Amino acid sequence: MTHGYNRLSYWWHEAGLEAALEQTPELPDTCDIAIVGAGFTGLWTAYYLAVEDPSLNIVVLEAETPGYGASGRNGGWCLGEVAGIEKQLMNPAHRPGALRLLRAIQQTVDEVGRVCDTENIDCHFQKGGSLTVATTAFQAERCQHHLQEQHRLGLDEDDIRWLDPQESRSRIDTTTNHGALFMPHCAALHPLRLVHGLVRCLRDRGVRIVECTPATAIEPGLVTTVRGELKCAITLRATEAYTDSIRGQRRKLIPVYSLMVATEPLDLKTWENLGLHNRETVAGAQRTVTYGQRTQDDRFAFGARGGYLYGSGVKRTFDAGDPGLLEVARIMHDLFPLLRDKAIDFAWGGMLGVQRNWQPSVTYDPETRIGSAGGYVGEGVAASNLAGRTLTDLVLKKNTAVSELPWIGASPRRWEPEPLRWLGYRVAEVAERQMAKSEMKHGRPSRMAGRVVDWFSG
Ligand SMILES: Cc1cc2nc3c(=O)[nH]c(=O)nc-3n(C[C@H](O)[C@H](O)[C@H](O)COP(=O)(O)OP(=O)(O)OC[C@H]3O[C@@H](n4cnc5c(N)ncnc54)[C@H](O)[C@@H]3O)c2cc1C
Repeated sequence: MTHGYNRLSYWWHEAGLEAALEQTPELPDTCDIAIVGAGFTGLWTAYYLAVEDPSLNIVVLEAETPGYGASGRNGGWCLGEVAGIEKQLMNPAHRPGALRLLRAIQQTVDEVGRVCDTENIDCHFQKGGSLTVATTAFQAERCQHHLQEQHRLGLDEDDIRWLDPQESRSRIDTTTNHGALFMPHCAALHPLRLVHGLVRCLRDRGVRIVECTPATAIEPGLVTTVRGELKCAITLRATEAYTDSIRGQRRKLIPVYSLMVATEPLDLKTWENLGLHNRETVAGAQRTVTYGQRTQDDRFAFGARGGYLYGSGVKRTFDAGDPGLLEVARIMHDLFPLLRDKAIDFAWGGMLGVQRNWQPSVTYDPETRIGSAGGYVGEGVAASNLAGRTLTDLVLKKNTAVSELPWIGASPRRWEPEPLRWLGYRVAEVAERQMAKSEMKHGRPSRMAGRVVDWFSG
């Protein structure tokens, strides 16, 4: 067992590596279903398959240990949204399907809560909704425009509504507060405790999780690993940002970094002033992607999108002095001045998976009996549960509302070879920064920069 996992994130430090996880069973010769990757996608898929058909012989192969990837490092927003859904809602031909997907992901937040209750998974799940706070007049205008669009496209006040500056400030204290969007379909949770809870459920149901066993190739009926071969009827790939590690899968997804910090536990007086009394998750409405949550032990955990490394570079951990992490702390202090004199106890980063069309997908080919799910673009905590149920229905050939969702189908085209994808990412990053700057300075983003970002992110 590789040690040092407790340095991967605050969640790892808090929950640790449970004794029950410190077993690496032998690699079996055969199984019915091999799942590659023990993050949320792999674990939820194994969970629903085992519940639906307890007679199945399921093996989950994991390169490190469950929760090593994004699932043990993320912001813990269990969010009723799917990346890229707005684009589909805008297209009248795709709108009915997109609305079904949206309703399904909204209900998924409750489904995650239900399983946690039923299976006694103590992952600090609290459905307090989500706030997107406008700190400038222009951001407020943009949020309200977004709200009108969402209502025009089929959502209503129960899905997303506007809080005036006074109500917004009573929920969260930011530098300046011009109002906020409130979305009730979101819960805050401790992601690694959810991973560990699922692992326990799976082991109780006889699913074997084989750790420290990277798969190197997937073919019909066979998974090759560094420890030998596993024959299986069905193979499901759940490796998201790490998919390049499997032969033949290069450039299907790129790893994009997201970086986080967590403060010391804050006293109740500070929380009285700061807000988040229902553990609402919170984001700024500026262009940079940000996300924060009040943890069960009263820290503030906050993150922002990092970047992309040339050649889909993979970084295991980040040093506390990493410039990206310092920038995340700066953004947090800008937004929440009350936190400026609080110690930052933890800083870490992780990789999320992005497909070329910036949307997730679920695939299953009944001929080869190979499937996959991922590409959530940083919105995978709830989406991986829905993807797990989708894969389960496809594999078991069940016709349900979930097995008809429009994210099922072929993966999009692969990413461009280097140096093109690095250049593309860099240009879009610079354009994004330019938009943010001009928004701050002139109250309007630059149109040209906006076109570049749209071109890159589809
Ligand atoms: C810092 C950060 C913050 C985020 N915040 C949020 C958030 O607040 N809300 C949200 O919805 N989403 C968030 N995300 C995204 C979310 O965490 C991911 O979408 C989700 O965890 C993906 O789960 P997964 O199981 O598909 O992938 P992962 O959790 O990455 O799991 C993949 C697993 O596969 C294993 N693996 C890789 N290659 C192999 C191989 N060859 N053989 C065997 N095993 C292999 C890895 O070790 C890993 O354990 C965040 C991501 C990051 C990095």
